[in-house]
Amino acid sequence: MMRMDRLHPHPLPSPRQLEQGMLHWLHSLPGPVWLTLPGSTDKPARVVVTLLHGNEPSGLKGLWRWWHESPRPAQTCHFAIINVEAALAEGGFVHRYLPGQWDLNRGFGEHGDLAHQRLARDLLQHIQAARPEAVVDLHNTSGSGPSFAVATENWAQHRALAGLFTERLLITEVRLGALMEMTTRHSPIITIECGGAVDPQSDEVAYQGLRRFLETESVLEEQQGDWQLDLLTRPIRVRLNHGSTIHYGETPCEEADITLPPDIERLNFGWVQPEEPLGWLGSKGLDALNLSDGEQQLAASELFVQQDNRLHLACGSKLFMITTNARIAASDCLFYAVRSPSASDG
Ligand SMILES: [Zn+2]
Repeated sequence: MMRMDRLHPHPLPSPRQLEQGMLHWLHSLPGPVWLTLPGSTDKPARVVVTLLHGNEPSGLKGLWRWWHESPRPAQTCHFAIINVEAALAEGGFVHRYLPGQWDLNRGFGEHGDLAHQRLARDLLQHIQAARPEAVVDLHNTSGSGPSFAVATENWAQHRALAGLFTERLLITEVRLGALMEMTTRHSPIITIECGGAVDPQSDEVAYQGLRRFLETESVLEEQQGDWQLDLLTRPIRVRLNHGSTIHYGETPCEEADITLPPDIERLNFGWVQPEEPLGWLGSKGLDALNLSDGEQQLAASELFVQQDNRLHLACGSKLFMITTNARIAASDCLFYAVRSPSASDG
């Protein structure tokens, strides 16, 4: 029986365990683990967190590949592998969290007062005790799509950390109790969405980024790198209103309040124009949707228009973190949107 309410200090996988494979090693863990690769004590440590969500394996796969290289980074590195129990269920990497349990990346900060969020507090205590100069938390999106970073502050440190992994940085005011919200000037924390869990390039994003994060001498200064960071600000979180239902299909579903096509993920991060219909609305019309920019609720008409029974954007926007999983859409959100700069002026 795994103890899921706290972190277990644990050794890094041995060469033999590295040979036996990642799932085999995961099965041997006592629960969430905190691993340490010691380095020079006069350099600040760095922390990698991953598997807060059990169905998002790219971060662990990237670490696994990096550990194979017997790395000897200059600074001490800590690795927190969190929802091992959910990751192992049903053959592996199926569940974000186990049925009847809690989303472990919604329990930090003010959201962390309840008893089931003891693990979140224990992870924060481990991070604070390690006094790291930076923390990266690796995830996958539930839908297919390219990589991006998310931070709650637009500081140079966050932009520098994001640039080690990806070319997009989302600055969000939305507060959900995620680990990245615990960011400080001394220990900046950033979320990396490596791309979809099913996309092979996501594992490469994780590995290449981890290598840069763990092996580069200075990770907090913005580099004139290979790519320009695309900065996306003030995303609008689009959810279902309470009691509303969603369906994914090629044709409108009569019982659903909103129907989206199953291939809507193809819109991830591209500019979508108002002419392009997103899907279909039911009898509630736009009232089925709930919009928030993290500070306040927005009227659905700020982002959308209804034309007959079709749902359109009111202005050109980028959509991302689009899911086609009805359960995630109902419990979390449908997608996020950033309006084109000209449209959101004023
Ligand atoms: Zn996640």
